[in-house]
Amino acid sequence: MTVPDNCPPRYPSTGISVLIVGAGVAGLMAALECWRNGHDVRVIERTPEQVTTGDSFTIGPSAIRALCRWPQMAAENEKIASTPTVSFHTMTGNQVTAPKHLNYTQESDSKNMSKLVIRHWRPQFHDMLLKQLLAIGVTVEYGHRAVEYFEDGPTGRGGVVLEDGIRMEADVVVAADGVGSHSTGVTMGREVRARPTGEALYRTAFPAELAMADPMVRERFPPLEDGAHIELWNSQLGHFFIGRTGETMSWVLTHKNNDTATESWSHETDPEEVLKLTATFPDWPEVADRLIRLTPKDRLLHFRLMWRDPQPCWVSPAGRIVQIGDAAHTYVPASGNGATQGLEDAISLATCLRIAGETEQAPWALRVHNKLRFVRVSCLQKLGLINQNGYSRGVEKGESQPKTLRYMTAPWIWKHDPEPYAEENYGKVLEHLQRGTPFQDTNIPPGHVYRDWSIDEILALQERGEEVVLDGEWV
Ligand SMILES: Cc1cc2nc3c(=O)[nH]c(=O)nc-3n(C[C@H](O)[C@H](O)[C@H](O)COP(=O)(O)OP(=O)(O)OC[C@H]3O[C@@H](n4cnc5c(N)ncnc54)[C@H](O)[C@@H]3O)c2cc1C
Repeated sequence: MTVPDNCPPRYPSTGISVLIVGAGVAGLMAALECWRNGHDVRVIERTPEQVTTGDSFTIGPSAIRALCRWPQMAAENEKIASTPTVSFHTMTGNQVTAPKHLNYTQESDSKNMSKLVIRHWRPQFHDMLLKQLLAIGVTVEYGHRAVEYFEDGPTGRGGVVLEDGIRMEADVVVAADGVGSHSTGVTMGREVRARPTGEALYRTAFPAELAMADPMVRERFPPLEDGAHIELWNSQLGHFFIGRTGETMSWVLTHKNNDTATESWSHETDPEEVLKLTATFPDWPEVADRLIRLTPKDRLLHFRLMWRDPQPCWVSPAGRIVQIGDAAHTYVPASGNGATQGLEDAISLATCLRIAGETEQAPWALRVHNKLRFVRVSCLQKLGLINQNGYSRGVEKGESQPKTLRYMTAPWIWKHDPEPYAEENYGKVLEHLQRGTPFQDTNIPPGHVYRDWSIDEILALQERGEEVVLDGEWV
């Protein structure tokens, strides 16, 4: 197989055709990794063109290491990744802790880039994946909305029906269509219930120069020559996140939900609506309102936060459809893991299919992948819930960050590498699934014994003021 310049070597062809539904972060990475692992790829997306809304997210080292196997992306990532300093504040904007890098080694302010918490602007990160896909000659087929998933065991094919009635088929269909995917009807045999968390986010990112037009905003948030900074304002009323780099200003206001928000990345709203809310906050500073007022209407989203219980089964009965990313597991923002786990899924799945090596074995690859990943993502979902509460508490005297944040930088999370993990464990999991031999996950907190859990159970504990017991080494 010929490989375009500046692309990683490609494994020999497996002949497995893969149809990826959804060109988000997980879907695009799955397309790249499937190509690298020797599979034939096609990607469809419901939007008519590339979407450039969104603000920022954290990408953990486990995913960064993997994308750096692509030289073009490794170089681009150097340019677009930022390692912000973070300071904690009261909800009136008063600084409680000095700006400090968050790092995975929990050493005092390590400057080692590979150990620092990295943020990306979602539109830039998404664009980097798309450019890489174009470089290997795969184009996203836009304007294709999947409304139904199906599979046919005897023919060994899976497929989707599009809105206009067209049917598309492949050996493997990857549901990478984000929250509320139709595919759960096939994988879980039912829709997965989404429940409001009671919170919503006003969120935006826009050119910093727009914010700098106001002298008061400029004085409080002076232009950054280089680097990036995040302020986290916390109280029981909500949280205000202000993130900025030299070029981009971003803020996110988490608040009690007033039912006007939706779980959508395209629900635009007016800054005036936010100002009505902040008018109810005691001693809310004028400068924050000015920043909100400067936000372009078409860049401001109102996103409703929903909970979903862990979904243990991501694979259809005949093994031709598999969910990845938010379609398989949703995260609250406090988990810092939505994008990272979607990327890890993509790498793990493509590796499992390469090891399976042929179409007939693909269903086992999907089941092995599900088994390799489920407990890990479920543990991280649980941490997100615990961390969500930690943020509300803010920082206490003598602390440099909320205690719960330490959980998110534990070695079992960031030291993981999904490709070698799948290579080392594929055979063991296959034996486990086919013959019932024991298998122990090693990409989870060491010593942890997993048992199913639900959002209700965790919330009930938290309501009674009880700690969620985390057995094993979670930190
Ligand atoms: C436009 C956009 C902006 C975002 N901005 C942020 C952000 O600022 N911060 C943050 O933390 N997270 C953001 N997210 C979510 C974040 O990207 C995901 O939580 C995470 O990266 C996991 O990615 P995913 O690919 O599973 O889901 P997503 O990134 O949500 O991608 C899902 C893709 O599937 C497409 N799709 C959905 N339904 C269908 C269908 N029926 N047929 C075909 N295609 C379909 C969607 O249009 C989307 O492109 C954003 C998502 C989107 C879509």
